[in-house]
Parts: sequence; structure tokens; C-alpha cells
Amino acid sequence: MTYDVIVAGLGGMGSAAAYHVARRGQRVLGLERFGKAHDQGSSHGGSRIIRQAYFEDSSYVPLTLLGLRTMGGTWSGRRAGIS
Ligand SMILES: Cc1cc2nc3c(=O)[nH]c(=O)nc-3n(C[C@H](O)[C@H](O)[C@H](O)COP(=O)(O)OP(=O)(O)OC[C@H]3O[C@@H](n4cnc5c(N)ncnc54)[C@H](O)[C@@H]3O)c2cc1C
Repeated sequence: MTYDVIVAGLGGMGSAAAYHVARRGQRVLGLERFGKAHDQGSSHGGSRIIRQAYFEDSSYVPLTLLGLRTMGGTWSGRRAGIS
């Protein structure tokens, strides 16, 4: 089997990358040392704080807003049974 993209690490960032690349029709292989949906990474936890105000650089703000819209799509995908 061949793949267009290989994602190493399926935490929040890697999972999102794999999901969106797959949605574009690419064949994706995700590699994760702990298996799916584990509790060993930075992305694990029962709550998440997302801020839209960034002192560091205002260019983060449109990225944050885009991320919020994109995560909504990802969560909808999870509800639809995409894993
Ligand atoms: C306690 C805590 C609370 C946080 N709270 C917030 C918050 O409220 N809001 C916020 O915006 N950010 C928060 N952060 C930061 C945020 O969680 C991280 O920046 C983000 O989750 C990082 O995502 P990631 O996918 O890069 O990393 P991770 O979720 O850690 O994913 C990396 C993945 O790579 C895998 N991996 C590593 N090495 C290998 C390998 N050799 N082979 C295969 N797989 C490998 C790991 O197992 C893991 O699944 C928090 C971080 C921590 C630690």
C-alpha cells in the first residue's frame, strides 16, 4: 500500500492534519506510538481554553478564528462517526 502523506504523531495537531489532508482525497497514514485517542499527549484533557486575543502578534487572530471554524467541522466529523 502506498500513501501520499504520512503523519507522525496523532495528537491534536497531527490528527487535524491527517483529517484535512484525507478530506482533500489524499491517502494518509497516521503513526501514533500510543494508539488512537490516548491520554499521554498534550492534547489530552477534559477541557480546552481557546483565546482570540494575542499580545504576541495580531496576525494570530485571523488564524484563531479560522481554527475555531475548522475545529467545528472536525467535531462534526467525529459526531458523524469519522475516526
Ligand atoms: C496540561 C496542559 C494543558 C494545556 N491546556 C491548553 C489549553 O487549555 N488551550 C490550549 O490552546 N493549549 C493548551 N495546551 C497546549 C496544547 O495542548 C498543545 O499545544 C497541543 O495539544 C499540542 O498538540 P500536538 O498535537 O502538537 O501534541 P500532542 O497532543 O502531544 O501530540 C503529539 C503526538 O505525537 C505522538 N508521538 C510522539 N513521538 C512519537 C513517535 N516517535 N512516533 C509516533 N508518535 C509519536 C505522541 O504520542 C502524541 O500523540 C496544554 C498543554 C498541556 C500539557
